[in-house]
Amino acid sequence: MGSAGGIVYLVGGGPGAPDLITIRGRNVLRRAEVVVYDNLVNPELLAFAADSAELIYAGKRGGSSASFDQAELNRILVERARCGLRVVRLKGGDPFIFGRGGEEAEALAAAGIRFEVVPGITSAIAGPAFAGIPLTHREYGAFVAFLTGHQDGAKRADGSTIPWETVAAAARGGGTIVLLMATARLAATLERIVAGGLVPETPAAAVQSASTASQRTVRATLGTLAGEVERAGIGAPAVIVIGECVALGASLGWAERAPRFGKRIVITRARARSGAFAEAMREMGAEAIEFPVIQTVAPDSFDSLDSALARLAAFDWIVFPSPTGV
Ligand code: SAH
Repeated sequence: MGSAGGIVYLVGGGPGAPDLITIRGRNVLRRAEVVVYDNLVNPELLAFAADSAELIYAGKRGGSSASFDQAELNRILVERARCGLRVVRLKGGDPFIFGRGGEEAEALAAAGIRFEVVPGITSAIAGPAFAGIPLTHREYGAFVAFLTGHQDGAKRADGSTIPWETVAAAARGGGTIVLLMATARLAATLERIVAGGLVPETPAAAVQSASTASQRTVRATLGTLAGEVERAGIGAPAVIVIGECVALGASLGWAERAPRFGKRIVITRARARSGAFAEAMREMGAEAIEFPVIQTVAPDSFDSLDSALARLAAFDWIVFPSPTGV
């Protein structure tokens, strides 16, 4: 059932771990009638949506050349909202950081559709954070630059590309560079930064699948990172961090040291009862996936229970094996 005026929420789903979405993001998901989500979104987040919500998969990884056709996607958002529906456009990280959220907002504005942006924790911040790399530091980093290493994303309206030389010169003065969508052209991109004057000895790291059980970090230097990444078989999705701050990650890398790090645990009990266990597992660094295969429903008839209770005197004990039984 649609409310009188449809609305589209451009929601940031966070970097991967399902509890890194905002409370506001979760709340609008709960009330959504349509959810349009993409590949980088943790499917666990879809469990927040009502069973009746229409789920639309919007396709490939951000930055891949075979992305879902953006015009088609915009059309779906506009059309569903025009029907009066509450639509959540659920995106990985933050919707306005390299997620084409800007283009979607433009399409909605042009069509006169009401929309709201719910920011998310971008992988540009979460990736370094989960590798123990502070992006700024009083001694080592006075500014941060987020850049795309993907050529299409880098092309600007006038056909020019990112001015790597300028970025490198600025970072030489004490800043941190974060690259997204950069693994495919990593060697060439890092060479341009070196050519721009950032010394090859500058600490650099790659963080793959940050905040999930598959997280991996490779620490090297600007000059050696591309080779190390290739050797380690690191691929998308990964963020690249370059700057003096990166060296701190060697001692501050907390996530991969958690006691249950790297474990992916599927919890099959009924959803209403899986939360506490999932939470305990997450606290120990595991990735907990709530996948209920059990559902508790009232019996068709209480007859057998009634007749058993009628013979109550025949029992010394009545044992309830779970709160659900009670
Ligand atoms: N809007 C998203 C970015 C979309 S572009 C955000 O704010 O995070 C896709 C790129 O995001 C990937 O190529 C990769 O560079 C980065 N990325 C997304 N999730 C990631 C993760 N869990 N770990 C590392 N990088 C990630």
